[in-house]
Amino acid sequence: MTRRYDAIVVGAGFGGMGAAIELKRLGLHDLLILEREDDLGGTWHVNRYPGLAVDIPSPTYSYSFEPNPHWSRLFAPGEELKRYAEHVAKKYGLRPLMRFGVTVTGARWQDDHWQVAAGGETFTARYLVTATGFLSMPRTPDIAGIESFRGEVVHTAAWKPVDLTGKRAGIIGTGATAVQLIPELARAASALTVFQRTPIWVSPKPDHPIPPRVRQLFTRLPFAQRAVRWLGNTILELMMISGVVHYKQLRVANRLAERWCRAHLHRQVRDPDLRRKLTPDYSFGCKRPTFSNDYFRTFTKPHVRLETSAVERIDEGGLVTAAGRTEIDVLVLATGFDLWDTNFPAFEVIGRDGKDLGKWWRHNRFQAYEGMTVPGFPNYLSLNSPYSYSGLSYFTTIECQMTHMRRLFTAMRSRGSTVFEVTQKANDEFLKRMRTKVTQNTVFSLGHCATAHSYYFNHHGEATLLRPTSTTSAHRAAARFPLSHYDFLV
Ligand code: NAP
Repeated sequence: MTRRYDAIVVGAGFGGMGAAIELKRLGLHDLLILEREDDLGGTWHVNRYPGLAVDIPSPTYSYSFEPNPHWSRLFAPGEELKRYAEHVAKKYGLRPLMRFGVTVTGARWQDDHWQVAAGGETFTARYLVTATGFLSMPRTPDIAGIESFRGEVVHTAAWKPVDLTGKRAGIIGTGATAVQLIPELARAASALTVFQRTPIWVSPKPDHPIPPRVRQLFTRLPFAQRAVRWLGNTILELMMISGVVHYKQLRVANRLAERWCRAHLHRQVRDPDLRRKLTPDYSFGCKRPTFSNDYFRTFTKPHVRLETSAVERIDEGGLVTAAGRTEIDVLVLATGFDLWDTNFPAFEVIGRDGKDLGKWWRHNRFQAYEGMTVPGFPNYLSLNSPYSYSGLSYFTTIECQMTHMRRLFTAMRSRGSTVFEVTQKANDEFLKRMRTKVTQNTVFSLGHCATAHSYYFNHHGEATLLRPTSTTSAHRAAARFPLSHYDFLV
């Protein structure tokens, strides 16, 4: 007899840990958390590039029930996030439930349980939760000749220490990761060429150290930190609502954000030609904007060059564009993650009657009821599903999902049931409502997004990543969704 766990959680990042904490609270103690990497923390374990920091205010980037009074800065560096993840795992007894270095390759619903295949083993559980993240499959660009490059190549999501002293570096990509990394590379390398395909909206970063006496205050009076968190969440919510979700009604706020970023660029870069190249031609919010106080300024340094011609090929010693060839010693790939080909889902998931989640999403539409459950997939919670991401702090999404789980499992138990499955009707209505909101209100449909190359959009050209509602609405839905939206079976 193979051991049957109460639940298997795939992913030991903040999403998976939040789900495990909730399952334990619900009395499901026989849990197994499977993690591909060699330790916990997800994004904050994998990403170690210089300059890594959270790019929304730290007081909002933690579980509300586990505030961290120790953040050293308003935008804490990556290693503090990793330490916070370790602290949570220890306090909530999660580490003993985790198995590292285990890559799940498939999951199948069999009669009344899930069979999960990983590393030649099969694990069995009544419930399956996938928390594999959106940004977990690093993308290597498909540029001709890349394999022939003789120098060092490093992807930001697989960082290894590189000594850049006296070396010529090239970096491909100007997303949120590159914005943090480029100033650091410029400090170390003798020459740096930045290969940009699409510029990014960057606003000033109101970052500063949190003085020890404020941290002490947060430790002694958690209420004070809750007030700061509330303020931070309110500001983020206003930004998300005005810039993205209610673009139709609040277009002026979106324009103001663009102006704010342009003024920031203007203050740091005097050369109009360079400014033009660094200015996006798509609406603010179509793709993830970011904060930085030294990104634009870096391009004014004499040894830093911005290259905007497309990279045509890479040879053993450099990169070739229409503008010429650039010799480099080190190539940095800040080329992001593959969301829509190798993710959604991150491995094969087969539900009732052989229904294949990945195929179904691709042939129909990317969809999940409340961003979490899918008809035909009993006892399955897919945390990083279409329309799940709510607000700007990932913890908003995580805690909405924990609330949804609480309501769902409590209702299932009170009915003497052990199996839940969302109804087709509830799913269809949710999808229709989300699509209508995206189409009628958001920047994704009403703004100029065609040139943004945004990973928010899938192959069908639909922006199905973010939930197009306020976080208040998302919290309300998680706490009060009609229980008739689920079938409960024994
Ligand atoms: P990204 O936003 O997807 O950016 C990838 C960059 O690589 C883009 O500039 C893209 O250009 C470029 N690129 C990809 N393939 C290319 C090719 N073949 N030729 C030329 N350029 C190419 O990835 P990311 O910067 O890693 O950021 C991903 C997300 O991680 C962010 O949006 C953010 O949500 C998160 N993040 C968070 C933090 C934080 O909180 N601390 C920090 C960093 C990142 P195009 O735009 O033209 O495709």
